[in-house]
Amino acid sequence: MCRGKLKSKFLGCLVGAAIGDGLGAWREGKGMVKREEIELLTDRLEQLTYTDDTHMTIGVAESLIESNGFDGEHMAQTFIRNYESEPWRGYGPGPPRIFRMIKSGEPWHSAANKIYKGGSFGNGSAMRVAPTGLLYYHNSTELREIAYKSSSITHSHELAKEGAALQAYAVALALNTPPDEEIDQEAFILKLQNFARNQLYKEKIASMKELLGEQDRRQVVAALGNGIEAPRSVPTAIYCFLSHLRSYKDCVTYAISLGGDTDTIASMAGAISGAYLGINAIPDRWRAKLENRAYIEALAERLYQIATLNFIPLQHLEQED
Ligand SMILES: [Mg+2]
Repeated sequence: MCRGKLKSKFLGCLVGAAIGDGLGAWREGKGMVKREEIELLTDRLEQLTYTDDTHMTIGVAESLIESNGFDGEHMAQTFIRNYESEPWRGYGPGPPRIFRMIKSGEPWHSAANKIYKGGSFGNGSAMRVAPTGLLYYHNSTELREIAYKSSSITHSHELAKEGAALQAYAVALALNTPPDEEIDQEAFILKLQNFARNQLYKEKIASMKELLGEQDRRQVVAALGNGIEAPRSVPTAIYCFLSHLRSYKDCVTYAISLGGDTDTIASMAGAISGAYLGINAIPDRWRAKLENRAYIEALAERLYQIATLNFIPLQHLEQED
């Protein structure tokens, strides 16, 4: 893949995640909706304001860039700094409590366990993991390790860590496929199946395969879920991508149409779709409305530079075509 295409995929991933979040936020916690209604809504919005999903994704990206890789203390402090400057982004009750504990001296890797016995299995760490999928797209072992560690700052339950790793892996798989090359849905699902370690996720991934081609959205929600728990939203987001491979707009619109935790599911689906199709596949009129777009794009570019500088020998990259 040439450098220009790869860079476009990095940009598509983070911008795609932020737009999914901004659009999905308008339907969060609501039921299913017709796709035409989402179209009308998106036309009416003057600005796409993102929520905690993107705010924390930005935090992950900032920390990975500033630390040239993962540093748990640095990432936790970045989350805290960002939260304190914009606490109105729709954060749930858990993260602020964890942030206060870390500020009062609790280590970043143990605070979450003290708030939730056994750890939370919400989707809060999967929703922000896209930059990890980008930076470690070449190495699934490292990708899993960093996804787990970054999850444990706020979500230390195995299901949350595994959900974050699966979402990051789906981003990496999408990124690794040239946009003009067809993704084989079943091969993609098999890779997910081989990557997953947890039985519940393995079952969800098996359901994804059975649901391909399903027209009834109720069946999709019944089998995969649309909730705030990682196992009831990460497989759903990946399914939204797999069932709408050629269109970012259709992928995100479909994700929102399923109802439930729409900002997070549309954000995760949008991250994968953007990582496959690239920035130019995202409708201009949506990109133009995204707040802080220049900054989000700058973070994606920086991740691209670090990922390609550190991990890909120049001779392995094809010339621009
Ligand atoms: Mg949110």
